[in-house]
Amino acid sequence: MQIDDLVRQVQTYLPTVDPDPLREAYAFALAAHDGQVRLSGEPYVQHPLSTAMILAGLNLDVDTVVAALLHDVPEDTKVPLEHVRAKFGDEVAKLVDGVTKLSRISWENLEEEQAESLRKMFLAMAEDVRVVMIKLADRLHNMRTLFPLPRAKQHKIARETLEIYAPLASRLGIWQFKWELEDLSFRFLEPDEYRQITEQVAALKRSSERYISRVVRTLSAALDQAGIEAQFQGRSKHVYSIYKKMRRKGQDLSQIYDLLAVRVIVKEVKDCYAALGVIHSLWKPIPGEFDDYIAMPKENLYQSLHTAVFCLDGLPLEVQIRTEAMHRVAEFGIAAHWRYKEGGKRDVSFDAKLAWLRQLMEWRKDIADAQEFVESLKTDIFQDQVYVFTPKGDIIDLPAGATPIDFAYHIHTDIGHRCRGAKVNARLVNLDYRLQNGDRVEILTAKAGGPSRDWLNPNLNFIKSAHARDKIRAWFRKQQQEENILKGKEQLDKELRQLALEQAFEDVIQVFENNPPGPGESPDKMLGKWHEELKRLGYAGKKSEELVSFFKKFTSRNEIYLAIGYGDLSAQQVALRLLVMDEQPITVPQVAPRGPAAAGLQVMGVGALLTNLGRCCNPLPGDEIIGYVTRGKGITVHRRDCRNVAKVDEPGRLVRVSWGGGPQQFYPVSIIVRALDREGLLRDVATVVAEDKISLAAASAVAHGDHTATITATLQITGVEQLGRVLTKIESIKDVIEVVRDTGQGKIDKAKTPAN
Ligand code: MN
Repeated sequence: MQIDDLVRQVQTYLPTVDPDPLREAYAFALAAHDGQVRLSGEPYVQHPLSTAMILAGLNLDVDTVVAALLHDVPEDTKVPLEHVRAKFGDEVAKLVDGVTKLSRISWENLEEEQAESLRKMFLAMAEDVRVVMIKLADRLHNMRTLFPLPRAKQHKIARETLEIYAPLASRLGIWQFKWELEDLSFRFLEPDEYRQITEQVAALKRSSERYISRVVRTLSAALDQAGIEAQFQGRSKHVYSIYKKMRRKGQDLSQIYDLLAVRVIVKEVKDCYAALGVIHSLWKPIPGEFDDYIAMPKENLYQSLHTAVFCLDGLPLEVQIRTEAMHRVAEFGIAAHWRYKEGGKRDVSFDAKLAWLRQLMEWRKDIADAQEFVESLKTDIFQDQVYVFTPKGDIIDLPAGATPIDFAYHIHTDIGHRCRGAKVNARLVNLDYRLQNGDRVEILTAKAGGPSRDWLNPNLNFIKSAHARDKIRAWFRKQQQEENILKGKEQLDKELRQLALEQAFEDVIQVFENNPPGPGESPDKMLGKWHEELKRLGYAGKKSEELVSFFKKFTSRNEIYLAIGYGDLSAQQVALRLLVMDEQPITVPQVAPRGPAAAGLQVMGVGALLTNLGRCCNPLPGDEIIGYVTRGKGITVHRRDCRNVAKVDEPGRLVRVSWGGGPQQFYPVSIIVRALDREGLLRDVATVVAEDKISLAAASAVAHGDHTATITATLQITGVEQLGRVLTKIESIKDVIEVVRDTGQGKIDKAKTPAN
């Protein structure tokens, strides 16, 4: 590599940069390191040059790049820091000095001196985070060129990298550093495992590349159609994270499905959600795999939408969706702050989201430009932190005054919930113990269970961090919520099952769940889309309006369950909404009336027309219905969801019909009751039916070998509402397991239902 390469790289993001300081720094380093050779045989100056190049790759400012060129001069040559200061100024000298001090920290004696070493480390970081970035780039290049070193030395450096530098890169959100440091360390520490995983991943990649390009073609066309501009990246997990996941989940490589992954990069935030909608309508989302890190960014500022879907050929696929700006942050982390944008403004909201800088931001609300931001970082942002260790030696930082409970929640929310005791430096302590710098903390957990309400009591000082408090509160909220969701779901499912509306509900709720308004957008923005989708399902006009006005208040089925669970809404209200009748005028073709009209049915607005009730689905008043113009036998009326209707191949013969008024009529409805077999069961059913003044025709009971029985009965019913009522009553009879309306469409498991 030549100095010209570095100048060219800096010019890619700073076109008007003065190249002189870069060339002078290089010449200075070249002279200072003259005669020094690395173990690989290269001239030593290649190392600072490569370090500077890595930082230029993050588009960092000229001072940082110059300091990187000079970073080993005071430490490894006879040229003192003062010469660097005289030639390159205070700013560069401070950076170089910071890196030099950092390099002197002895990680070997970490056990005894950990707190002191950490203090130095964070002091350097507080002085100027760029120092740490130079140190990380220095370490990255050393790791890349570790091969000529003796085995034992490789091991020691790799271990230190994995334990100190990679987590530090992660903390700063510099993803590119983190994964490469981890993979290189892993390669030296576990060469066999590294090779094995790399080979397997390479083989998988070859076979998956065609697949991913098919996915991208499909997705690209769909996004195009939705007017969303997007770029795609096939994404591969890095080796060490695969290894960790395999270890954590005890799985082999073939079971880790998120090896297949696609990243979608769009222009604006709203496009992220729009793209998510498109993806979820193309492929079925895998439940529990959706994460919104846009609304809830990670601590290191990471933002994206994550989802997983059953994609082409039914294969699970992980998808990440983010904007270009989010992508830069994901790759560069805190380094994104120092990226020069000529004449550009800083994204102030970006800073505000960096949780561990938030406090600093409070003090410096009026920070106006990058220069000031750099200055503000130089203040001691870590003064109110305490640094402690996990049993494995990982560093954890917590607010000063934090307790083992804060520590437990920091490790994992679930560890926090199950935390029952703690050992600090191998001694049992109380849960309100105040952690000290350098403490080694071990959490004792219960197998299950949740936090104590006492932990939230501010007088008892059980927790210090906002993070732990949020998680504990969320736990208590969720307990209540989950109970209510479950209760609501049970009630609604039962109502829908009895009225055979499960599919209708599923279809309708999906329209709303799959087409949510963007964050902060009015639901009314989605009106067009919702009506269009509902129309596809056969709900038009007033019906569609009513569905929208009802369902737009809920963003998911869980909210509906919750409302029912809390008693704000009844299951009947939801079911009836799905049953709203279509009262728009209809056009019925002239059909010569011949023979008797089907008893009790009127096609709205037409009077006594020759009509028959479909025997396949036995429609009832209140049911969504549709007419089928037969050849010579008038109109047959079917439930709209009857499968025979779906099979009609001349759609022109389907006509819209509706239930008329007129004198009260009765309709035969078949029901199926499953119950534990006992004497008097049929009698009890008959009694309940009679109480509602419903006549019962053709009841029969069949006992099965497993002590259950099935009763089939036909009731004379006036309408759906009466049916709903009586089914509920039958279900409350002792020993009755289930009662459903027999739609003749195989709702009941055939094996358990006697032949008619
Ligand atoms: Mn170095």
